[in-house]
Amino acid sequence: MNCPVCGCSETSVTDSRPTRHAVKRRRKCLQCDFVWTTYETTVNTSDFNRIVSSARARLEKAIKDMGVIRDYLEGMDLETRDDEDEMESELLICSDKCR
Ligand SMILES: [Zn+2]
Repeated sequence: MNCPVCGCSETSVTDSRPTRHAVKRRRKCLQCDFVWTTYETTVNTSDFNRIVSSARARLEKAIKDMGVIRDYLEGMDLETRDDEDEMESELLICSDKCR
């Protein structure tokens, strides 16, 4: 394991203890003395691939949703530029409902 600060591969484990789902280890870099904690667990390949596929699908959906939101906001911007009075009255209606 490489140090997350300097990238040195020479590290030592200063503490190691089991937790419910992993092994918690305190590691120290022998070059820069940075100390950090790792949680190590075993993941079988099929679980890992399933997790990666799920994360990818959620990321793709989020990117698509962002595009839909962007398109919607761009559409709103074009409409309100032409009719600012209408936008103002919508805001007044909204603030009346909120009271
Ligand atoms: Zn280091």
